[in-house]
Amino acid sequence: KTTGHAGEGPCARRRSVPVRVGNVVMGGGHPVVVQSMTNTETADVEATARQVMELAEAGSELVRVTVNHEEAARAVPHIVEKVREAGYETPIVGDFHYNGHLLLTRYPDCARALDKYRINPGNVGPGAAQDDHFRTIVEQAIRWGKPVRIGVNWGSLDKQLLARLMDENARLPKPRSAQDVVLAAMVESALSSARAAESYGLAHDRIVLSAKVSSVPELVTVYRKLAASCDYPLHLGLTEAGMGTKGIVASSAALAILLWEGIGDTIRVSLTPRPGEPRSEEVRVAQQVLQSLGLRTFTPQVSACPGCGRTSSTFFQEMAQAVTEHIQRRMPQWRRRYPGVETLRVAVMGCVVNGPGESRHADVGISLPGTFEEPAAPVYVDGRLVTTLRGERLVDDFLAILQRYVEQRYGA
Ligand code: SF4
Repeated sequence: KTTGHAGEGPCARRRSVPVRVGNVVMGGGHPVVVQSMTNTETADVEATARQVMELAEAGSELVRVTVNHEEAARAVPHIVEKVREAGYETPIVGDFHYNGHLLLTRYPDCARALDKYRINPGNVGPGAAQDDHFRTIVEQAIRWGKPVRIGVNWGSLDKQLLARLMDENARLPKPRSAQDVVLAAMVESALSSARAAESYGLAHDRIVLSAKVSSVPELVTVYRKLAASCDYPLHLGLTEAGMGTKGIVASSAALAILLWEGIGDTIRVSLTPRPGEPRSEEVRVAQQVLQSLGLRTFTPQVSACPGCGRTSSTFFQEMAQAVTEHIQRRMPQWRRRYPGVETLRVAVMGCVVNGPGESRHADVGISLPGTFEEPAAPVYVDGRLVTTLRGERLVDDFLAILQRYVEQRYGA
């Protein structure tokens, strides 16, 4: 089912089995879970624990760390311990490639400490060893009572499976394009690996699937197929989304299409951070995608017009930024004291053309005077004009009105 005209909400969520990961449940109609991944050297316990907590603080409900060698596997229980001691219950997931069967077997403290294992069926082992290695990882998951994500990635697709499907395709009277075969192989790799895991004894409700590509249309195609073929929860993400605007827009476009169709139980936005940019930016983008679609609510929304030739000074942009930053700074405290504050809607508008109308639709809104020839800015609260602000303290006075509104509306 697809949605049609404006005003319709998202499609009903695809039915999936609930899978528990630590204290989080994904699938089964639970809210779409936001997750992210560290980029520290996992063997560096301090740095990795710090980044896990930073991501958790930003709102990541699940954090994945790579477990790529023995030092990393040895570090994992210490990372988990530090994070728990600091009061964070955020589930920590181990990302395994190539040697997961060895690390999980040799380092039981690591296997026990993690809340979930991610397996990539395309690189669990060379040739004939592939099945054995995959089975070993699944057996460790069963032994320690952990769920797994079977995460296919087109950059590391199961070569044997792909060769077989290419071969079969070549013999068809009307062969499909090579790209179609690759996408079909991704779906088949995820589903056949899940079937194999269940045949080894892993419970149906311990499996999450993903199949990531870096092109938006292909990601949509793969996930639609996957969604129609199984009831495992699906982890969505555009792989190698890239930096800055490109990464944010491509990820948002892909995730929005699928989420709107009811597909997706957990999401990750894979951004390449600019030097110095916090890793937590990807968490904020993921939250904003969900909030923009009306699927979850994380933080108050500030509406601001883009400004145009009617705004002859930069005061309007400066005020919009000041209000946004003020809310971001206050949110940790507001969230504790004022339950429901994340639903707050604020408007900061540039002039009288759309200012009063938009401000009336917000909980608290201000309509600035465009040219500032008449420096008077009407403020609307719950749709009613309550005051008109003037002068140098205009921003502070508006923030004070905002604070009073939060205390009165959301305070106990
Ligand atoms: Fe321009 Fe006024 Fe519209 Fe803002 S509200 S974009 S300043 S016309």
